[in-house]
Amino acid sequence: MLDFTRECNFARGALQQRSAGESMENAELITGYIEHINAGLARVLAFMGMDATAVRAEGPYVYDDRGRKFLDFLGGYGVFNFGHAHPRIVAEVKAELERMPLSCKLLIDEPAIRAAKHLAKVLPGDISKFFFTNSGTESVEGAIKLARLHAGRPNLIYAHRSFHGKTLGSLSASGRDQHREPFEPLLAHFIQVPFGDAAALKLVVDENTSAVLLEPVQGEGGINVPPDGYLREVREITSAHDALLILDEVQTGMGRTGYNFACEREGVVPDMIVLAKALGGGVMPVGAIGGTPEVWAQFEEKPLIHSSTFGGGPMACAAVDAALTVLVEDKLAERAGRIGETFLADLKKLREKYPQIVTDVRGRGLMIGLQFASSDIAELAIGAILAKELLVAFTLNAPEVVRLEPPLNMPEELFPEAISRLDAALAETAALVEQYA
Ligand code: PLP
Repeated sequence: MLDFTRECNFARGALQQRSAGESMENAELITGYIEHINAGLARVLAFMGMDATAVRAEGPYVYDDRGRKFLDFLGGYGVFNFGHAHPRIVAEVKAELERMPLSCKLLIDEPAIRAAKHLAKVLPGDISKFFFTNSGTESVEGAIKLARLHAGRPNLIYAHRSFHGKTLGSLSASGRDQHREPFEPLLAHFIQVPFGDAAALKLVVDENTSAVLLEPVQGEGGINVPPDGYLREVREITSAHDALLILDEVQTGMGRTGYNFACEREGVVPDMIVLAKALGGGVMPVGAIGGTPEVWAQFEEKPLIHSSTFGGGPMACAAVDAALTVLVEDKLAERAGRIGETFLADLKKLREKYPQIVTDVRGRGLMIGLQFASSDIAELAIGAILAKELLVAFTLNAPEVVRLEPPLNMPEELFPEAISRLDAALAETAALVEQYA
């Protein structure tokens, strides 16, 4: 149980230790976080040296009130594929802000049509119908409902270590016990299978399955890349039983893995796709559920069976349209694939240099994970890396894995710079680990 007073005192103590040269204004902001947002989280931030306020962000950089200039290799957990405050995306959103910031709900919003048409053009196959949401978890919730509505079947199959969000429906399909247990019982008829194992999936998909919900590459599960051919086999298994395949591309989408959408690598077209994070170009919070006309048929018969007040708003949809334009025109997926290959190779060299602490390096495109020997070592390494003003973080379902998800338009010369900062931080971590071993 969280001891609130103890957490506050700890966080205040950390604050006082470094507040000698700091303004009252900064100290008050952090105290405000402790007292009114979350004292437990303040403690974590203090431990990492991140109990400071963000002042501004531009392109690949984030600036704080301690005068630090962070090079962003975290990318907001997959939000900033286009960097921070991309001028073209900001301009489109600003235009909507001045024209009509939110939908009046009873007239058609042109930006929503524009965004949907653009998505239909960029997405593979016949995914041509869209429902806009405000986040990843909302997109997953909606997809689970639409799958049940379409199929009239109860079961939903998901993978071990998956992450689909933290509202009750998507949490029921997320594969980490620690996040699930306090909220049980979760939704019934959700069946977990190992990730990347088509044979295990084949054993559970049957006439009671509404859908199989998967990430093409698991993000929060620790950047897990399935064996080649896995997605194609999953597609065959689901089609054979008339079950839907829902791909969660909230994190893998929008160019991240070297393809506009990760499913393109194996030529797989899902029945539904869920998107969020970078969909709003790093400027607006927006998500989407995409589906085929067949999947949408029931929804179109009962169009009010699922709805959202804010979903599909003009500013959010203008951001989607602009983000897709930048993605395609700047060939960012191709760039992520090319640069990601060199970056991954350089990171593998660091693994060879520090085998006592880094046990694996893996990923696809610019979605890369560094696996440490333990979550404690990962925590030490994160502290050292952040101290070098390089933003990184661990993955939610695998705290021993540090993820690297830089903007896809990160200037190329900043990759060797990141490697040299990582090298220095890993050297310090390895020395510390050796000292306390
Ligand atoms: N799906 C995936 C694959 C994710 O990585 C995440 C968030 O990390 C979500 C869904 C949930 O998104 P949100 O935090 O916007 O609800």
